[in-house]
Amino acid sequence: MAVSYLKRDSSPQQTIFSQEDWSSAYCNVEKELNHAELKLVRGSIPKQISGTFYRNGPGRLERSGQWVHHPFDGDGMIAAFKFENGTVKLTNRFVRTKEWKEEEECQKFLYRGVFGTQKKGGVLANAFDVRLKNIANTHVIKLGNDLLALWEASSPYSLNPETLETNGLCNLNGVLKKGEAFSAHPRFDPGHNTEERMVTFGVNTGPKSTIRLMEFSTTGEKVGSLLSDRKDSFNGFAFLHDFAITPNWAIFLQNAISFNPIPFLLGQKGAAQCLASNPNGTPKFLLIPRDCGNFAGESPKTVDAPKGFVFHHLNAWEENEKINIESIFYDDFPSIGPEDNFRKIDFDLLPEGILKRCEINPNKNTFTCSTLSKQCCEFAMVNPHFEGLKSRFSWMATAENKEGNGPLQAIKKFDSLKEEEISWSAAPRGFVSEPIFIPSQESKSEEDNGWVVVLVWNSIRSGTDLIILDSKDLTEKAILEVPISIPHGLHGSWVEN
Ligand code: FE
Repeated sequence: MAVSYLKRDSSPQQTIFSQEDWSSAYCNVEKELNHAELKLVRGSIPKQISGTFYRNGPGRLERSGQWVHHPFDGDGMIAAFKFENGTVKLTNRFVRTKEWKEEEECQKFLYRGVFGTQKKGGVLANAFDVRLKNIANTHVIKLGNDLLALWEASSPYSLNPETLETNGLCNLNGVLKKGEAFSAHPRFDPGHNTEERMVTFGVNTGPKSTIRLMEFSTTGEKVGSLLSDRKDSFNGFAFLHDFAITPNWAIFLQNAISFNPIPFLLGQKGAAQCLASNPNGTPKFLLIPRDCGNFAGESPKTVDAPKGFVFHHLNAWEENEKINIESIFYDDFPSIGPEDNFRKIDFDLLPEGILKRCEINPNKNTFTCSTLSKQCCEFAMVNPHFEGLKSRFSWMATAENKEGNGPLQAIKKFDSLKEEEISWSAAPRGFVSEPIFIPSQESKSEEDNGWVVVLVWNSIRSGTDLIILDSKDLTEKAILEVPISIPHGLHGSWVEN
C-alpha cells in the first residue's frame, strides 16, 4: 500500500509518529540485484532525467542474532538507480571491504564498531583491540572511472560505477598513504577558478590536529589527478565531518569537542562514544586559503564560532570581503551511550538540527549568526552549479513539526530571498532520507529547475519507495516501490549521463 504522501504549503498539524514505524527501517538488506525494475505506484518518470542516483548507507545491521549498537556501524551498501528514457532500474551491492568479507565468511562480528558495536565476549574480548573496521558506508561519489565508497576515518574503496563490483581500497594514484583518513564529504567546485574540481580533506587528530586539503581534477585528461595539496595544523582535537568551499576558501568549523580514548582502549566504549562536548571550549572557524584562489599560499585564519555542534554545512559564499556559511547547528553533541538502545531513542531528549547562517569577517576575526528556520532539519543541499556561490534555494529533509525534534518525515524547499518555504510530507507513516537535487539540463541558469529524488521508508509495507518531486513546487512526479528494503541511510550523489 502506498503511503498517503502529500504536498503542503501551510503549517502542519501537530502529528505523532510511531516509534515502531520509524525503527522498522532497521533491517538487513537481504538481496543484491542487477538492473531490477521498480514498480510504478503513481505518476510517471520524467524522460529528461538521465543519469544515476547513487546512494550509500548501512545495509548489514545484524549477524547471527547480534545487532550493531548503532546503525552507523553497519556495512556500506551501495544502491544505484539508473534513469534512462522514462525508466529507472536498480543495481545494489555491498562494498566488499576486507572486514565485510571476513565477517561474511564466519557470520559474526569480528571487529568493534566506532559507534559502540562490540565483539561478543564483553570488555575482555574488546579491550586493547584498536583495529579500525573500514565500513565504507557514508557517501558515494564518482571520480573519473572510479565510484568511491567513502568513510572518513580511512581510505575510500573503489567500485565499478556500472556493476558496483568492488575493485578494492583506493589510494587515488598514490596520493593517500595506507589507511590515511579521507573525508566522506568532498565538495564539487563547478569551476570558480577556471576548471571543475573535487575539493576534499583528511584530518589527523590529536592535541594538535592537521588538515590535509586536496583538490582533484574532475574533467578532461587529468581527471582524478591531484591539482593542489596543502597541510595546516591547528590547536586542539578537531572532529571535522564536513566543510564548505568558496572560490577562495575552504571553511571548517572545529567543534568544541574533547576525546578521551581510555574507555575505548579498555573495551568499554566505541571510539565515537568517547567524544564529548567541552563546555569550556570555544568552537572555531578554520579558514584555509585555496591554492587556486586569491590568497594562495597564505596562512590560514582562525575565527571564533557560535556555541553548538555542527555535522553538516549547506553552502558558503563570499560577499564584500566577508564569508557566509550556512550550517545545521545542534545545541550539543548527540551521542548514543553504551546502555542506550538506538531503536528506542527519545527524540525529545536529543537536540534538533537548526539551519543557521554565519557571516564571518576574516579580517576582523568576528562573526554574526542568524537562525534561518527553527524547524528540525538535516541533509540540506543547493543546486550544485551554485556550490560556493550565493544561492537562493535549498532542499533539505525536515521533521514533520515546525518546532522540536523528531524523525525526518518531510522534504522542504527553502527560498532564502523571500524567506518562504514549501514542504512535501511522508508523515505520519513515511520517513525520508537525504534529498538529492537533479538540475534540469534544459535551463541550467534557472536555479530551482529540476527534480528532487529521495528514498522514503514506507512503514505500511516495510519497504522503501523512490519518490521523484518537481524541485520548483515539490509536486509529486512519481512514486515507485523499490524491490529491496533499505534502512535509513546516509549520503548519495547524482551522476549525469
Ligand atoms: Fe555526513
